[in-house]
Amino acid sequence: MLSLRAVARQNGFAIRTQGLKAIGTRHIQTRTVTDGDIARLAAKPLHPLTLADLCKFGRQPLSTKDLLNNANFTLSILPSRLAHRIQSLRSLPYIVVANPNVNKIHNNYVHSLSTLLPYAERHIETLEEEIKFTEAMADLVQTHSNTIAILAKGFLEARKYISAKEVTAFLDEHLRARIGTRLIAEQHIALHFSSQPHNELQDGDTQQHEDSSYIGVIDTELKPASLVRTCENTVGEICELRYGVRPTINVVGSPEATIAHIPMHIEYVLTELLKNSFRATIEAGMEKEPIEVTIAPAPATEAQTAALKAAKRDDQKDQVLQKHAVGVISNYDQGSVDAASGGNYKPDVASSPNIRPLENSTPGVTIRIRDRGGGISPENHAKLWEYGFTTFNEDEINDKTSSGGITALDVISGGAGGGSSLAGLGYGLPLGRAYAEYFGGGIAVQSLWGWGTDVYLSLRGVGRVD
Ligand code: ADP
Ligand code: MG
Repeated sequence: MLSLRAVARQNGFAIRTQGLKAIGTRHIQTRTVTDGDIARLAAKPLHPLTLADLCKFGRQPLSTKDLLNNANFTLSILPSRLAHRIQSLRSLPYIVVANPNVNKIHNNYVHSLSTLLPYAERHIETLEEEIKFTEAMADLVQTHSNTIAILAKGFLEARKYISAKEVTAFLDEHLRARIGTRLIAEQHIALHFSSQPHNELQDGDTQQHEDSSYIGVIDTELKPASLVRTCENTVGEICELRYGVRPTINVVGSPEATIAHIPMHIEYVLTELLKNSFRATIEAGMEKEPIEVTIAPAPATEAQTAALKAAKRDDQKDQVLQKHAVGVISNYDQGSVDAASGGNYKPDVASSPNIRPLENSTPGVTIRIRDRGGGISPENHAKLWEYGFTTFNEDEINDKTSSGGITALDVISGGAGGGSSLAGLGYGLPLGRAYAEYFGGGIAVQSLWGWGTDVYLSLRGVGRVD
């Protein structure tokens, strides 16, 4: 029997999936959302959420009081975040909002807000209420799980009425905000299941033990090299099934390095980056050349180490950690990120004052993925960070196996051959970068046109609170 921790280690999504299965969403109450509700909630300033907030009530073992506190904290920030999203969707050109797919996403947000409103005016005081609230969180996570594909389809259908630049500006803000909203909901679900008295997971050893490296969805001892291998398997399988070949990966550098981060975020980004490298490798007929993945930990800066050493008492240490804490999530939610800022990216993760100094753990890791897939032409390089930019054409990649014409719409609806695709939405790089930047990391793409591509994924450890 696997422990929750072991399951979660194997699969960053495990906590969430198991949680949703175990909890169901049968008892969800809703309340009608009025325009007045939306205006009132959206007028509230966005809470500047930090990672410390996410972990504040997450120390193990989790008490009932911590759990209720976390529920009320979650409740205090989610409704206004949803209202902001609804307003932002409504401010798109009318003909775009009227598109059935874009409209579906709008309605999903209204639905989610309607499940939170019954709680919004009161405090969660009992475990019964907390369980119902966790169901509402599970409903929220489930309702919005297909957003990317649906929005991609909607914007593709509406492309006559809105420019690629406007789409990118909207999606960059919207999808970054979505990362934060899901994270807050998922964190509550994960904490719910890690709290010992009401651990509802089925059979066996499912409790999160005190030695667990997890605080909710955050793994404080995440090993990027292991995730590279997990993602290599996923992507390798797609390649084998669809193209009959499977490029290989050499992991070099410091595969033992660990950081504190959110496994499901890194897994998403690595999968997208590996899909790109595997695809380029196959298209160039270079499967014999292994893709090289280098794991390079970054040390803490001298200032950070000195500040931590100078702090004698625990509360002083906490202050230093708080000051350097990464994860001022709302920066991105307020749309302050320039979507086209790819060129300004600085891969030196160690030089940022935002890195949270960690004793015994690296503050950041850079992962370089080097393929021999022929690189990216200068014209295409300029468009890499546009949502929807793709050079994918299944006819070309498939000329050995020859299939009919497949459009981007088929790829999105999972049609034409079914199953996962190696590419096609043109969302991998921009959305991957949104995830990486969420906690102060980044993605930089360096192409050697005619030869291959180096992608630098830098991650900053999100810090430890215990
Ligand atoms: P998609 O993979 O759906 O096309 P992405 O955002 O992941 O969308 O990538 C956009 C485009 O960037 C790809 O279609 C491809 O042309 C180019 N690209 C990305 N990574 C690589 C790579 N490693 N080698 C060659 N081209 C790449
Ligand atoms: Mg891709």
